[in-house]
Amino acid sequence: MKIEYEDTFVKVAGLIGGPDYVRVARALLNNENATDEEIASATGLKIKTVRKSLYDLFGRSLITGVRVRDPKRGWFVYRWKAQRDQTDGFIQTQRKKVLNRLKQRLDYEETHEFYFCGTPTCLTRTFEDAMENFFKCPTCGKALNRLDNAELKNSLLWKIKQLEEELVK
Ligand SMILES: [Zn+2]
Repeated sequence: MKIEYEDTFVKVAGLIGGPDYVRVARALLNNENATDEEIASATGLKIKTVRKSLYDLFGRSLITGVRVRDPKRGWFVYRWKAQRDQTDGFIQTQRKKVLNRLKQRLDYEETHEFYFCGTPTCLTRTFEDAMENFFKCPTCGKALNRLDNAELKNSLLWKIKQLEEELVK
């Protein structure tokens, strides 16, 4: 695989909307204050696709749009510009969201006991669920044993620590 340098703005656009957004983002960096039509012709994408990604990026404050009159045709068009100083903020917000989800998951793992019968196709059950079934798997009939989630908790903790360090930077 070839690893190429890619602008953070382009990367973020790709994370949000995939390859089409990457093309739109690159076009925006190459041609500041481009119109929808200019971006469409630069990327080869349909105008509808270009507009959809532009409005989305605009809605996330990653680009700005200025309404100007097209001197040749007289009607109004938007000129779009990448807000590259917003990309770091966007990444930070995403990281915080992931961090919160991981913390919630860890909290759940720490406050619940899990039981499992050992059959790969059967479900992992909570303590309440296991108790209701008299610690016998309702699917296969084997005994439900306490599941050790220490490893999972450790990996959650590790990931949380890593994200917290990245957020401080
Ligand atoms: Zn089972």
